[in-house]
Amino acid sequence: MHNGGVSFWWQQVGVPTPTDRLVGDARCDVVIVGGGLTGLWTAFSLHEADPTLDIRVVEAEFAGFGASGRNGGWLSSELPGSATAYAEVAGAEGVERMRTAVRDTVDEVIAVAAREGIEADIVRSGVLYVARSAAQAERLAGELDAAQVQRRIRVAGAVAGRYDPDCARVHPARLVSGVARIVRERGVRIHEDTRAVSVTPGAVVTEHGTVRAPVVLRCLEGFTAGLAGHRREWLPMNSAIIATEPLTAAQWDAIGWSGEELLGDEAHAYCYAQRTADGRIAIGGRGVPYRFGSRTDVEGRTQDRTVASLRSTLTSLFPSLGGIGIDHAWCGVLGVPRDWSASVAFDPATGLGHAGGYVGSGLTATHLAGRTLRDLVLGHDTDLTRLPWTNHRVRRWEPEPLRWAGVHALYRLYRAADHREDAGLDRTSRIARVANRVAGR
Ligand SMILES: Cc1cc2nc3c(=O)[nH]c(=O)nc-3n(C[C@H](O)[C@H](O)[C@H](O)COP(=O)(O)OP(=O)(O)OC[C@H]3O[C@@H](n4cnc5c(N)ncnc54)[C@H](O)[C@@H]3O)c2cc1C
Repeated sequence: MHNGGVSFWWQQVGVPTPTDRLVGDARCDVVIVGGGLTGLWTAFSLHEADPTLDIRVVEAEFAGFGASGRNGGWLSSELPGSATAYAEVAGAEGVERMRTAVRDTVDEVIAVAAREGIEADIVRSGVLYVARSAAQAERLAGELDAAQVQRRIRVAGAVAGRYDPDCARVHPARLVSGVARIVRERGVRIHEDTRAVSVTPGAVVTEHGTVRAPVVLRCLEGFTAGLAGHRREWLPMNSAIIATEPLTAAQWDAIGWSGEELLGDEAHAYCYAQRTADGRIAIGGRGVPYRFGSRTDVEGRTQDRTVASLRSTLTSLFPSLGGIGIDHAWCGVLGVPRDWSASVAFDPATGLGHAGGYVGSGLTATHLAGRTLRDLVLGHDTDLTRLPWTNHRVRRWEPEPLRWAGVHALYRLYRAADHREDAGLDRTSRIARVANRVAGR
């Protein structure tokens, strides 16, 4: 089994060699820090709106090195944050506008990819959520009964399900490298192998020189904590994935997964899975949720016990795959704000802006965030800039060791809640309710 190497997706297409490292100081109109999908979609949208803008991206490794090239490939319509938090600032109507915007963005990303020739194994196949206990079924409130779930995918122990058609399966590295390509083709320079060490109004200081610009946009998501002055802003939450060896036709038949819909469950420590274009199952979940001091992983390497735990989730869903080989394991970080809700912000007075904190639902949200940042930077008042996540403010996480102890305690509680629910509790465990309150979700 290959562990790390950034991700299985990057190993499939080839890990790129960084190009166009910054040499000395530079000036431009907009400098974007972070070459993931948030930074790249922002560059793309800004260039589309005003092709005369001189835009540069500074990226520590290579475009797509972070979560954008490592994720589970769910281009989903899930809200990037808590409906309750958004409702507090924009009411139920604001939450509904946000839901519609995210839903529309799924098609928008598919349309851009088709128009620009980005081959990313995209299939608008929908997602099947399954409940495997009475408590999960209560939370899911789905329209499918056990027999209907079994007709879609034969998940062991599924008692109910919900099918959301507004979700597409994608190959993350193919998508992000395609977006990097079209951004470069438009003349945006992506300075790879160029780590920002400080971000202030008008200037991004990197290891190789300073880029000055009136507009400076921070698009680092799970890596934000690595930047001076931002350590407690968003928690770098870890998520890990394993990819099996390709399944045989008989194995696919046995589990009845004949379509390409994505698959998720409703456990507190939930899992997410896709049937890859080359016939494997890639299944992800939390693993070790958080590393002390907001540290991130090394090139995606993940712990053996996380691999074992994901394998056991897979075989519990599909007992007939008990002997299946695991070809690859990796992990990455996503950004979690203290109120579990994403934000897109820009201050015209300082020229500083940022977007992120999507809490694991960033694939679609990065595109929406990029278009929203575009409108904010250009000073346009639009439907996008009036979405509830715009200029959303949130308090910082607790200092260490509280942060580490708190997050680990929280996930112990979620595991305990899952355990009780699996043992027959017919409603959401009180432990999980308490954990949610403590977490601020
Ligand atoms: C394992 C995993 C599975 C996931 N699955 C899904 C999914 O199926 N669906 C979904 O919607 N979301 C998913 N997510 C979340 C989603 O992938 C992210 O929210 C999204 O990709 C964030 O994009 P980004 O551009 O904001 O951040 P990133 O893609 O992380 O990009 C940040 C970039 O900044 C660079 N960088 C870091 N520090 C510096 C610095 N100092 N200077 C310059 N550059 C720097 C990094 O190298 C990186 O390229 C998943 C995340 C993970 C980790």
